[in-house]
Amino acid sequence: MPENKPIYVTQPALPELKDFIPYLEQIWENKILTNNGPFHQQLEKELAAFLGVPYISLFANGTLALLTALQVLRITGEVITTPYSFVATTHSLWWNNIKPVFVDIEPEYGNLDPEKIEAAITPKTTAIMPVHVYGNPCKVERMQEIADTYGLKVIYDAAHTFGVNYNGQSICNYGDLSILSFHATKVFNTMEGGAIVCHDAATKKRIDYLKNFGFAGETKVMAPGINSKMNEMQAALGLLQLKGYPQNAEKRKVIAETYRKELANVKGISLLDEPENTDANHAYFPIFIDEKEYGMSRDELYEKLRQSNVFGRRYFYPLISEFSMYKSLDSARPANLPIASKMANEVICLPIYPELESDSIKKITALL
Ligand SMILES: *Cc1c(COP(=O)(O)O)cnc(C)c1O
Repeated sequence: MPENKPIYVTQPALPELKDFIPYLEQIWENKILTNNGPFHQQLEKELAAFLGVPYISLFANGTLALLTALQVLRITGEVITTPYSFVATTHSLWWNNIKPVFVDIEPEYGNLDPEKIEAAITPKTTAIMPVHVYGNPCKVERMQEIADTYGLKVIYDAAHTFGVNYNGQSICNYGDLSILSFHATKVFNTMEGGAIVCHDAATKKRIDYLKNFGFAGETKVMAPGINSKMNEMQAALGLLQLKGYPQNAEKRKVIAETYRKELANVKGISLLDEPENTDANHAYFPIFIDEKEYGMSRDELYEKLRQSNVFGRRYFYPLISEFSMYKSLDSARPANLPIASKMANEVICLPIYPELESDSIKKITALL
């Protein structure tokens, strides 16, 4: 290994190329490339079983799944959401002509704080869109209580949450819909890809119509749908990736444990606790830098690491509410979002992926 090989925050897991060839041969032979083909159907079955969810619909990517999910439940008006996420969460609202209302996060895991939601509800509020940030479960029971009290839908952006179980079942079984991403940077990838998890057959039918232009039969269109279907190559890769997933998840777990051990006593660096009653997926390894105690700011450390070819990422900085298209919203004021602002200013996500070598981990922890 070259001494100074760049280490990125993640590196996609891939199966061996030779194992993918027979799938491609099959696609070439049956000439079905998309539109709910055989690999698509098989992946939906296998994923539902693997995750332990009743219904799953595959998508070309997670963002289109988010866009479609809002149409599925006919969400309008205002939606309460978190500023501490990837921009796609809020963009999906904007594309649906919905006004995002930012509410602050809780300091424990950086997830939308249910206790701050009620104050932001107006007569126009129709839903809550929280994110299980870094794969750590939101306070799902409390979230549902509030949604039930006010008659709101809950759509979870579960893009980080593949394979996470909470209280012995998939975290995707909470809320009305959960959206997964299978992007190259996620723990389970189909190069690009995504899914919606729902709880009943009627909803799955509506999702599947909407992701295929609204077609509900050869000559019948039930709504102005979109084209957000997953293709057969993505689905075939997914089937193969699923076989490798348990082993990759185990490798991530070991890396996370090593980081935890090595960084436990570094003054000025704090870690998130391991979530209770949860089988985590170790999708990310965020650390938080207290400038005074550490003796260096987060950005100084970030640059220092880069100079040594270690490319952590500041997920999630800047907050979504800081981007120009959202900044003028009343709920985007930093004074409304003190905890999110603090976390965004202190966070660095360290490299974590199955093939991360132990020498690289040593280098990173030594630098820190
Ligand atoms: C990755 C991600 C998305 C977008 O998913 P794509 O598959 O890249 O479109 C949405 N929300 C969050 C929180 C993400 O991390």
